[in-house]
Amino acid sequence: MFKKILYPTDLSDVSLKALDFLKQLRECGSEEVLVLHVIPEQTILTLRAYGEGTVNVDEFETGLMEKATKSVAEVEAELKKFGYKVKKMINTGFPLREILTTEQEEDISLIVIGSHGKSNLEEMFLGSVSEKVIRKCKSPVLVIKR
Ligand code: ATP
Ligand code: MN
Repeated sequence: MFKKILYPTDLSDVSLKALDFLKQLRECGSEEVLVLHVIPEQTILTLRAYGEGTVNVDEFETGLMEKATKSVAEVEAELKKFGYKVKKMINTGFPLREILTTEQEEDISLIVIGSHGKSNLEEMFLGSVSEKVIRKCKSPVLVIKR
């Protein structure tokens, strides 16, 4: 039923909790996971505008990409252990836009997303990315609670 899953992850603890449920979905017949990590372009733009002279923005960006590449590879290895076919994407951009574009471009049957991410503010019912994804995407969404 949920053959091809889009799993957008910011690599936060809440988001990585999804792996347990992805394992169960595999046991229910899901076949493929598209792991999407978005490096927030806004962070880079803000640093370029305000941080120049205090941080080396290029080095910072390279560091983010290296760290993300390593962590996404770990997620991929885990999903492969469950028996999934895995496709990885690390994009620089605006998380919501990248998630929705990827949903449109791929033949997605389910989105698995964390209720919260790196900010994980106690008083928030949902994070801003998960809230907008749920509102704007076409596929059914499985929200993994913190
Ligand atoms: P906020 O970002 O609004 O301060 P938050 O970080 O707690 O709050 P979200 O960013 O909405 O919450 O994260 C919810 C879920 O959205 C994450 O668990 C993850 O599945 C997805 N997500 C968030 N950011 C990204 C990203 N940069 N790349 C891929 N997926 C993301
Ligand atoms: Mn966030």
